[in-house]
Amino acid sequence: MKRILLLGSTGSIGTQALDVIRKHPDLFKVVGLAAYSNGELLARQANEFRPSMIALTKGIHDLKDMVKYPCEVITGEDAAVRLVESCDADIVLNAIVGVAGLLPTISTIKGGTTLALANKESMVTAGEIIVNLTREKGVDILPVDSEHSAIFQCLQKKGAQKEIRKIILTASGGPFRDYSCDMLKDVTAEQALKHPTWSMGKKITVDSATLMNKGFEVIEAHWFFGVKYRDIEVVIHPESIVHSMVEFVDGAVLAQMGVPDMRLPIQYALSYPERIEGLTERLNLYGLSLTFREPDTRTFRCLKLAYDAAIAGGTYPAVLNAANEICVELFLKGMIKFLDIPLLIEKALDGHKPIYNPTIEDIIYVDSQTRDAVKKMVVN
Ligand code: NAD
Ligand code: MG
Repeated sequence: MKRILLLGSTGSIGTQALDVIRKHPDLFKVVGLAAYSNGELLARQANEFRPSMIALTKGIHDLKDMVKYPCEVITGEDAAVRLVESCDADIVLNAIVGVAGLLPTISTIKGGTTLALANKESMVTAGEIIVNLTREKGVDILPVDSEHSAIFQCLQKKGAQKEIRKIILTASGGPFRDYSCDMLKDVTAEQALKHPTWSMGKKITVDSATLMNKGFEVIEAHWFFGVKYRDIEVVIHPESIVHSMVEFVDGAVLAQMGVPDMRLPIQYALSYPERIEGLTERLNLYGLSLTFREPDTRTFRCLKLAYDAAIAGGTYPAVLNAANEICVELFLKGMIKFLDIPLLIEKALDGHKPIYNPTIEDIIYVDSQTRDAVKKMVVN
């Protein structure tokens, strides 16, 4: 029985993780749940899965009354980190959205617990620190993002990582994949939130529409698999059946395929190294055609900005992420246009004085400075 601590339990990944756990009560036990502000759903989840501790960052004060069994309730700004520090688990699944997931990631690794990581923003902002810390602590870190899970599944042979020539990340291209720059001028949040193949949280859905999500995944792949940026390629694959590929030094290309359903990569991270009965619909190859093409980075500039920030290194990726978080928030509120997103991020990157070999404190400082700077750009 693996004891699972789930951070971000009320979100898209969080609720799907609970679907997986619900299917395998003999294999997984929830020992802790954390959410941001949806206390009602958190209480319902707690009453069903009966973890010994739950954490809520903001919101309702009668949470304790809503939980119908003896359970420790942690609240406040750092509730998720305190939960990680005080709850014994075999795996922490970090499905928090945004840089808010960074400190819980660090606490998990420092505590020596296996980390199943959905929160890609941790890797984007602090990849080097995370990789070094996992080595120092001897902690396993398992990818949940479907592309990275696919690559991880293609690398199961011992020493396979050394034989990689190239990583090929597939991207659906999002709802605007066939749009020109001109057509993108007036697209709305509502349109951006209609993802053609995946159903996900709002932030990542907008990131998929701008291709920033793929840019983040390039950075995530670099840190997860130790592959140089020039050897990580993005390919548009509208059907979302091939979840990513690895080309090896002998020219062989391995792919992991399946219908698009996050419950598979979530489950693989929890059941690893075993494979167990899944919830996912089976892939029917008859009549299926798979297509691949080059991304248009002149129209979808966020992907290029991400490569540039990644190669520049230091605190540039933290700026990329912070500026993007604010831009997505403002776009969802209708306060900026879709094409303002890359413009504002570029401005933030251009104006940044980088710190190389940053500490976590440096990254958090740069994150908060960048947020303020981007907000100011919009007001002025
Ligand atoms: P979501 O918005 O649906 O859910 C986010 C969760 O994080 C919620 O439970 C929310 O309560 C919690 N949260 C937010 N801030 C918090 C804080 N400060 N403390 C504690 N909890 C907090 O987001 P999502 O789509 O589930 O994505 C979660 C992460 O997984 C993101 O990093 C995303 O990029 C990644 N991811 C998601 C998918 C997907 O299919 N949804 C796929 C791949 C990767
Ligand atoms: Mg992904």
